[in-house]
Amino acid sequence: MDLMPSSARPSRSGWFINDISRPILAVSWLLSVFCLVLVSGCGGGPPRRTPVAQPAALLDARAALEQGQIAHARHVFSSLESPERPLSLRGMARIGLGRCAIAENDLDGAIRHLDVARKLLPGGSQNGRARLYLGEAQLRSGAINTGLNHLENAFESLRETDDRRRAAFLITRTLDHIGDTVPALYRTAAGTYSYPEYSSIWIRQQPVPPAIVAVPHPPKGVVPVEKLSALPRLMIHKRSSWKARPVITRWVAPMSRPTRITVHHTADQPTIATLGIREPEVYLRRIQKYCTSSLEWGDIGYHYLISSDGRIWEGRPLKYQGAHAGNHSLNRGNIGVALIGNFDQDRPSSSQVRSLGSLLNALSSVHDIRSDRIYGHQDLRDTGCPGVHLQAVLSRLVSQLNRTSTARKSR
Ligand SMILES: [Zn+2]
Repeated sequence: MDLMPSSARPSRSGWFINDISRPILAVSWLLSVFCLVLVSGCGGGPPRRTPVAQPAALLDARAALEQGQIAHARHVFSSLESPERPLSLRGMARIGLGRCAIAENDLDGAIRHLDVARKLLPGGSQNGRARLYLGEAQLRSGAINTGLNHLENAFESLRETDDRRRAAFLITRTLDHIGDTVPALYRTAAGTYSYPEYSSIWIRQQPVPPAIVAVPHPPKGVVPVEKLSALPRLMIHKRSSWKARPVITRWVAPMSRPTRITVHHTADQPTIATLGIREPEVYLRRIQKYCTSSLEWGDIGYHYLISSDGRIWEGRPLKYQGAHAGNHSLNRGNIGVALIGNFDQDRPSSSQVRSLGSLLNALSSVHDIRSDRIYGHQDLRDTGCPGVHLQAVLSRLVSQLNRTSTARKSR
């Protein structure tokens, strides 16, 4: 599920959380850093011959980069990026190569290097550094949402004050630039610092496409449940049918024009999942209670939920931005649909699949969302959600939808 906004990430012990990979990755990263320290002789032991040169070379290359000696820096970083080197060193060398590419305005090259870097450095602050520069390169290339996503992730994993402040600065300036609300934690972390080297990002940026501007009262694009329900073969059970509590409006943001849909699984503990199968109404009330009391989200995070008997339930009203994709920029204009169950373990029921197909069809035609803007949660960020089985079903549904809409248009 992994639906926390980065600004309000709760304890990972909550029963929603389905992410066991991070601790393992963090441990393996720590091990590789530890090994690097060992081979470099930084642990206080006698210096060793060949490996000692590695971190020194890295520092040398970084210094050259700071002084604008890009060719020299690139030469050294390249020499450190060979398969026999430790993964963490290769990752750091790739960060260096990415920074060289940014300095030379080769943004495609930068994005390529930094993407490799973040995969070689799967956790911790070095991963945060890769994401910081990746976010910068994406912003420079005009990919605002992708850039913000990387920066928000960087901000979470960075400890080093200046790097973390840089991430906060880039997020704050970009959100200000596109006229969107800046969460207080970024504004605070950015402080009064200024980084003039970034100023060309916002000068060069194209005018903002309307899809990513948040509007206080969406004039169009928000479709009442009644209208969606009126579509053939689609019945949506309104909030009143599961006795939802009112939305705590001070904790939710208005929805901007829907431009994409993200599909999740709820992946709860087995007992809760069983409850979801037998009594979806009770289950929905429990999720809502958890989201409002423990997470302070104002309401359930998804806009629609589908129980295993195929019934579709109205979750958070669509006039409010959801809390499901992971952070503010990912939730923007993003309709959240969750199937109740854990689809790493089980396959979705056939009635659940049929209802998901109908709902995606209805949402995409009513809101004019192209089929390539329908995602499984894992298409947007590092998560197993919505589980292997549902992700496979979703790919099939999306290509069906694609064929139907192409046929519709050609008629
Ligand atoms: Zn999810």
